[in-house]
Amino acid sequence: MEPKPFILDLTVADLENLLVTWGEPKFRARQIHRHVHVNLANDPAAMTDLPKSLRERLATDIAWSSLTLRRTLTCDDGQTRKALFGVPPLGHPAESVLMIYPERATVCVSSQSGCLMRCVFCATGRLGLLAQLTAGQIMEQVYWAERELRALRPPPPGGYKAHLLTNVVFMGMGEPFNNFDAWWTSVERLHDPKGYNLGARSFTVSTVGLVPGIRRLAEAPLPVNLAISLHAPNDTLRGELMPVNKAFPIADLLNATRDYITQTKRRVSFEYVLLEDKNDRPEHAEELGRLLRTQYPPEQTMLFHVNLIPWNPVPSAPLTRSHRERVLTFQRILESYRVPCTVRVERGTEIAAACGQLAGMTETTPDANPQTTPVTVVQLK
Ligand code: SAH
Repeated sequence: MEPKPFILDLTVADLENLLVTWGEPKFRARQIHRHVHVNLANDPAAMTDLPKSLRERLATDIAWSSLTLRRTLTCDDGQTRKALFGVPPLGHPAESVLMIYPERATVCVSSQSGCLMRCVFCATGRLGLLAQLTAGQIMEQVYWAERELRALRPPPPGGYKAHLLTNVVFMGMGEPFNNFDAWWTSVERLHDPKGYNLGARSFTVSTVGLVPGIRRLAEAPLPVNLAISLHAPNDTLRGELMPVNKAFPIADLLNATRDYITQTKRRVSFEYVLLEDKNDRPEHAEELGRLLRTQYPPEQTMLFHVNLIPWNPVPSAPLTRSHRERVLTFQRILESYRVPCTVRVERGTEIAAACGQLAGMTETTPDANPQTTPVTVVQLK
């Protein structure tokens, strides 16, 4: 039997076509679309402006969720929430992290279950690639976060007119550019002014450095933010940390980034995870400062910055998190090269929800692939 279509994987046109085959008027598609993407309904029974027979057909012939929510964990007084989902058909893990701040709320979503890139410092890379997510499954994580937020705040009179979530970052499990089409479709649909209507600037995608993806994004019509995982100032070191460097070495990566900046006039951020004595010494900072200075003409100074990420521990990785002092020295050196530089504020380390810690904490996932490596929650000292 064909699996039922998942509602979030259907466009308005897909819905129209389906309704026509059911003998229903096409205009119902817009009504349903509004319920799903504006009201975030996930049960047709709530769509009381539709005829009862249509609601019943929708309930039986369409899948209203795709990911299975297995567990949620919270910390920071409920302001950080992590969801572990199972991806059908085998229940591979995918995780999302909602971070609530006084003036904004950000969700970090997965684009794949596991990851092919195998960066040595990252928990997700240990899993290998388990499953590609569909656009609808990526969107479902965003809607999970939006529903969490709505549950925390009483609805205004007349119901929610706009989303409460302000940012979506594609920094969960996976490499978005290794699932480019589905990832980009999710962005376009979440952006749809007649749907969830999230502004293009609200999205940030992080890539391991897949040059074809960067070039493709430069041509894309929506100005989403781009972050690039650099993590080392030379190919030898980057190659040790990130196998992808063999395919796309630093020179190619920086060329593509420069073209991207020239073409889009948009600011790019370079992520740099700090590992004690591996890539965090003053000479690494000097080398990085020189590299970025020589790569970019002075008029592009303000068009990139470096985001330093103190490494979050991953079980059995033979690495150490840089001491705070090292981080600050690194930052000072970069700034002496006039490279704008920030240190990432952390959330969720104690529930293994921080950057690079997502690996499906699988001790209670019966249908998880036996090859997945269970990762336990790591407590920071
Ligand atoms: N595949 C994308 C998204 C990965 S997660 C990419 O590679 O960019 C987002 C960021 O967290 C990346 O810069 C990634 O390198 C970094 N990261 C991975 N593991 C980490 C860890 N254990 N501690 C801190 N940052 C980590």
